[in-house]
Amino acid sequence: MALIVQKYGGSSVADADRIKKVARRIAWSRDRGDQVVVVVSAMGDTTNDLIEMAYRINKHPGDRELDVLLSTGEIVSSTLLAMALKALGYEAISLSGAQAGIRTDANYSGARIERVESKRVVRELNKGNIVIVAGFQGVTDDMDITTLGRGGSDTTAVALAASLDAEVCQICTDVDGVYTADPRLVPKARKLTEIGYEEMLELASYGARVLHPRAVELGELFNLPILVTSSFTQSSGTLIHGGVSMEVRNKVRSVAYDLDVAKITVVGVPDRPGIAVSILKPLAKAGISVDTIVQNASVDKITDLTFTVAKSQLAKAMRLVEPIAKSISARDCVSDSKLGKVSIIGTGMLNTPGYAVRMFSALSEKGINIQLITTSEIRITCIIDESRVEDAVGVLHETFQLEVAEEEREVSP
Ligand code: ASP
Ligand code: MG
Repeated sequence: MALIVQKYGGSSVADADRIKKVARRIAWSRDRGDQVVVVVSAMGDTTNDLIEMAYRINKHPGDRELDVLLSTGEIVSSTLLAMALKALGYEAISLSGAQAGIRTDANYSGARIERVESKRVVRELNKGNIVIVAGFQGVTDDMDITTLGRGGSDTTAVALAASLDAEVCQICTDVDGVYTADPRLVPKARKLTEIGYEEMLELASYGARVLHPRAVELGELFNLPILVTSSFTQSSGTLIHGGVSMEVRNKVRSVAYDLDVAKITVVGVPDRPGIAVSILKPLAKAGISVDTIVQNASVDKITDLTFTVAKSQLAKAMRLVEPIAKSISARDCVSDSKLGKVSIIGTGMLNTPGYAVRMFSALSEKGINIQLITTSEIRITCIIDESRVEDAVGVLHETFQLEVAEEEREVSP
């Protein structure tokens, strides 16, 4: 008998019929003799609807109240799922994040799990229950309810799986695995049977929406296998784990994209110590996360500082940066909100310069202008016009022969 944790996303429990279907899938796992802990997201667009309602009532709803409000979405889906399982004749119990022992810090709307006190979950499992835990939420030491940030149910699932020493954490969703590119953009995209933690972390952070990056990080930390699989079809999914063999890691694995990119450039900044801090610190304080940061080599002690933020944060960021730019006598402050990111990812790129050249030539042959470039050891990202992102993903998928199985590719890099 194994212990498994399954997580179902919002679209998998969007209405009563889907909840019943998910219940049957859980029952099937239980029938195989496994102990099952289930983590659920809120039904469909519930979280968005609750946020909208809060802001309609008060432009500053307050972090604490907002988190309690949002946590109710997952409570609704967890109770309904427990009822659906009972209707099928299975023993099941729903638990809120607090009841399941998810203890967090007090950073509302982006709380971090500090520990999982899983005694109650274990007790319920031992009584023979299927345990349904409301995802995305926890409780502070002062018993205040917190939420873990958008998409946080993945993190709940992996944290619970790690603390219960589960065999695997299954992320059950509306796609059946991790692909070489978004199959809606690239019909020839291939499903990966496995992928390592580092590669998955880059993919999740640079646009693949299948899994929250924090969940991947936790999986790696506890060396917990994570299976991304379909909620509704019997397909084998993609296993994220630490033992991916070197051979299959030896190439580009996937192309990711992100359309949520806006850019701010502070032009003509005096190049002296402390300038970057004075521009970026107020943004951090206001909770605006800055992504790519590029400072030009300076000419005559004058430089440009460019960084990117999410499109929804651009207006707020500009309001903060403009006065600072003035106060440090920068020449100008300009922004562009119509950008996107395209990345190639794979551990095979480690120490192999050829990949960058091939990526840039492929983009230039398509007439796609690169505005910014950033890299990690296993990723190369180009920031380009948002209208060219789809083309870029397609051409890169072709250039690196991602539709062909890795061992059969002709070219490397
Ligand atoms: N319901 C939350 C959200 O929509 C958490 C989740 O889905 O994981 O962000
Ligand atoms: Mg959701």
